[in-house]
Amino acid sequence: MPHAKCVHCRSRMWVEGSAEKHPPHLCAGCGGELEPVVDLSELVGLRALRVRPQPTPRDDADRFERISRQIRETIAGHDAERQRRLDSDRP
Ligand SMILES: [Zn+2]
Repeated sequence: MPHAKCVHCRSRMWVEGSAEKHPPHLCAGCGGELEPVVDLSELVGLRALRVRPQPTPRDDADRFERISRQIRETIAGHDAERQRRLDSDRP
């Protein structure tokens, strides 16, 4: 469960990876030790101090640019391959 809770100030935090495998950091609210959350029901009523980071629009634009570049390179590769085949078929 990628969540940890602080029993001292009753808050919850999203944790990179798994809270069970990566024992909790310190609470962002009170500096107390975080405890791993075993069941989502434990999060009910706790305030969220840190939520899962969302990808920014800039990341999306970069990813789109990377994908479209890969597509262009693939097409260019196929065109070159086809041209090579046409050239070799010629007497
Ligand atoms: Zn706390």
